[in-house]
Amino acid sequence: MTLLEGSVGVEDLVLLEPLEQESLLKNLQLRYEKKEIYTYIGNVLVSVNPYQQLPIYGPDFIDKYRDYTFYELKPHIFAVANVAYQSLRFRDQDQCVLITGESGAGKTEASKLVMSYVAAVCGKGEQVNSVKEQLLQSNPVLEAFGNAKTIRNNNSSRFGKYMDIEFDFKGSPLGGVITNYLLEKSRVVKQLKGERNFHIFYQLLAGADAQLLKALKLERDTSGYAYLNGEVSRVDGMDDASNFKAMQSAMTVIGFSEEEMRWVLEVTALVLKLGNVELSNECQANGIPASGICDERGIREIGEIAGLNSEELERALCSRTMETAKEKVVTALNAVQAQYARDALAKNIYSRLFNWIVNRINESIKVGTGERKKVMGVLDIYGFEILEDNSFEQFVINYCNEKLQQVFIEITLKEEQEEYKREGIPWEKVDYFDNGTICNLIEHNQRGILAMLDEECLRPGVVSDSTFLAKLNQLYSKHSYYESKVTQNTQRQYDHTMGLSCFRICHYAGKVTYNVNSFIDKNNDLLFRDLSQAMWKARHPLLQSLFPEGDPKQASRKRPPTAGAQFKSSVAILMKNLYSKNPNYIRCIKPNEHQQRGQFSWELVATQAQYLGLLENVRVRRAGYAFRQVYGPFLERFRLLSRSTWPRWNGGDREGVEKILGELSVSSKEVTFGKTKIFIKSPKTLFYLEEQRRLR
Ligand code: ATP
Ligand code: MG
Repeated sequence: MTLLEGSVGVEDLVLLEPLEQESLLKNLQLRYEKKEIYTYIGNVLVSVNPYQQLPIYGPDFIDKYRDYTFYELKPHIFAVANVAYQSLRFRDQDQCVLITGESGAGKTEASKLVMSYVAAVCGKGEQVNSVKEQLLQSNPVLEAFGNAKTIRNNNSSRFGKYMDIEFDFKGSPLGGVITNYLLEKSRVVKQLKGERNFHIFYQLLAGADAQLLKALKLERDTSGYAYLNGEVSRVDGMDDASNFKAMQSAMTVIGFSEEEMRWVLEVTALVLKLGNVELSNECQANGIPASGICDERGIREIGEIAGLNSEELERALCSRTMETAKEKVVTALNAVQAQYARDALAKNIYSRLFNWIVNRINESIKVGTGERKKVMGVLDIYGFEILEDNSFEQFVINYCNEKLQQVFIEITLKEEQEEYKREGIPWEKVDYFDNGTICNLIEHNQRGILAMLDEECLRPGVVSDSTFLAKLNQLYSKHSYYESKVTQNTQRQYDHTMGLSCFRICHYAGKVTYNVNSFIDKNNDLLFRDLSQAMWKARHPLLQSLFPEGDPKQASRKRPPTAGAQFKSSVAILMKNLYSKNPNYIRCIKPNEHQQRGQFSWELVATQAQYLGLLENVRVRRAGYAFRQVYGPFLERFRLLSRSTWPRWNGGDREGVEKILGELSVSSKEVTFGKTKIFIKSPKTLFYLEEQRRLR
């Protein structure tokens, strides 16, 4: 490993001198230009997306990294995967690999590289290979249904994913469990300019043969579908038709039956066709506008696929039943309301289909409860987001990142502290930014923002996004991490950029202004009962099973948990899971906005370095000491610097190291001798030693 700053910079940012944002970025840039996309911060891997295929992932690299220990070779994602796998296998420690970064930074590619490395080095045999295949083939299926082309990334994951891979005591894979978070379901009905809907829609239209298309009552041309933007139907370098075949064969490998695969495509087709159901105002006898369906054929075809009476479907789309204790009142919806209902239905069907697919994969790869297992978790989840307009989605995503940062700091500091204890050296207090208060502001059971939002959603009477905001403003007017137009006083600068409908949170990674517009709606996430009941009546077995609450017998009056509450509890489960494992971190960085190789945009990387907390990361890692090494290898490297230890040394390793440092007059304040390791405070001292070595 190169310790000295040379043509490719330092391989470990812990050795950066001086330690500041500027030198950190310069180091990453220098390395990126030399196609060295990986750099360490201790055992954290920083990865800068190369946007080109580098010849560093072949079987030769797999072999190399499996045979060496972490610091012996250049920084590489395989080194991280190898440490995780070896510790799982030989130290019996459950592991997790946490991959974060913004959209397009390379998280999903990194997670696939980790999985394929582990698959390459773990166990052999027919049974084992079939488990490996199932685990790996979950990717094309989830990507077809959960990924889409966005402005930032042609293959952007629009959901968060955590996958536990389970191994037996010999280190052979047994199976796994996938957990998914927050699919971006709004994409089903609407996409930004230059973006696409989920890949599967285009794959289906391009890849299905004529017979299948006919059975699904679809046309091949994407421009005929209102839910497919129409503007972009193809993505450069992406072959939808062949990806469709790959997705189908992946489903077969995982164990989906022919029938299940047909169901999935039928429900997908149904969503697409729902988008073409045009609703327009027709006048009722009393002159009040009420919606009606223009295209009878479309709705009839949907009815045929779903096994539904099309008149019943039309009724569910165009009217709303309000139930009071005494009576049922049916009101007609106008066209705008009916379109809203149609889109809500499409989003719900699709997101429930996605959950069903994840559950179905889990059924295939699940491991019996009897066996003692070792587990490696891989987390591929959206990084911290600051968009121009930040809404409920950004709020929960950033909350999740705040929690991940908390785990990171706590675990890293704990590890440091334990190492000091093991080595018998005094613990030096590290100053770091503790984000516990921010996490509390969001998640506190009674007083957190999520609790306030739930309270507002459940409160009878007139509630709106602005009553929710007023509540926050009142409660947190003195909170140091909360700001709004109303709470800003003379001490804080008055900010004209913040609208009246906004609040701001000072996250660890930066300040984010959230617009409360539609927070209540998104948190409620309710589907009108008329629609869920209509879906439950469908004869289509899969469609029907997606809407259990539509069963009039089961329809309890109890409200399902809100979106915020669900997310909070899945984050809590995730955190508990991560705390029980040994973490390995991969921090991904996107070098430019254009998905181009070779371009390194300083500002863009600077922002990400800040969101990822890289400097803080180095500071915490470095705690008291920038460098530490077991006496033996250290002595071996620097033996030639002392006449006592060169050419021959017969004493102990530690004594040898003491001799060398004494002879070079290294200040005793700079070094501490632990039980098995030498600890060096500043990188300068290490560089001085390296320099001396080079001069010999
Ligand atoms: P999102 O949050 O949008 O899902 P992401 O962080 O998962 O983004 P990826 O989809 O993994 O980003 O990467 C985006 C693209 O960058 C890939 O499709 C690929 O073209 C390229 N890329 C990422 N990592 C690598 C790599 N190690 N080698 C070559 N290309 C890469
Ligand atoms: Mg991704």
